[in-house]
Amino acid sequence: MPAAPRSLKLYQSKRDFAKTAEPSGKRRVAPAKLLRYVIQKHAATRLHYDFRLELDGVFKSWAVTRGPSLDPHDKRLAVEVEDHPLDYGDFEGTIPKGQYGGGTVQLWDRGYWAPEGSAEDMLRKGDLKFVVEGKRLHGSFVLVRIRNDKFGTGRKNWLLIKHHDQYAKEGDHDALLADDKSVASGRSMAQIAAGKGRKPTPFMLAKRAPFAADAVWHSNKGDSPTPRKAAPAKRVAKTKRVVKKRAAKTRTTKAKAR
Ligand code: MN
Repeated sequence: MPAAPRSLKLYQSKRDFAKTAEPSGKRRVAPAKLLRYVIQKHAATRLHYDFRLELDGVFKSWAVTRGPSLDPHDKRLAVEVEDHPLDYGDFEGTIPKGQYGGGTVQLWDRGYWAPEGSAEDMLRKGDLKFVVEGKRLHGSFVLVRIRNDKFGTGRKNWLLIKHHDQYAKEGDHDALLADDKSVASGRSMAQIAAGKGRKPTPFMLAKRAPFAADAVWHSNKGDSPTPRKAAPAKRVAKTKRVVKKRAAKTRTTKAKAR
């Protein structure tokens, strides 16, 4: 089994894998021609939305405290957290109480993303512009790092902002968040917490090794790492076109707005 990427060390150090069966980052995920993203609604001590962008074999992750908004005026605080393993992107279920991040997790959105430039450079500068094509989010967004660690927490704070484009909705505020339904199983937070209903359909992992409907991350369940078949070339090409087209449209819209 390949060693986990170096950047997952912090993720692994925060968790006791004898007590939680959260993925340790060693399960193989399907290779994809497009970068994937997921958003997990997470009822931990405080409800938040974990926004994860695939990059260099891990998920760059932010905890968006109030969730994303389609209103470009609503700048949503996004606290940078440690990189997460890609197999994390299929989890929906319950992290046991007392463990790091204990609470219910719902797969709230997922799809593909594309940086509008060099992701590495934009991340370093603290100005990551990108487009997404998912079930709930579409079009152009930006993550802007803000200088404000006045409490000395060592945390890096960013703002998640919707760009003005055809998918922006002025005055939408939290309307997008009202639908309490998993994109992977159709279940509400309450159904997931109860371990009822359909199991989530996989996106990152092999189709034959999805998480169970009552997934609680206890250890030693030993999923076999069956690599998922690559998405059909046709669908990949189509998504790529859509993401590119949307990025181009967004740029045109922004240029006109100037
Ligand atoms: Mn979380």
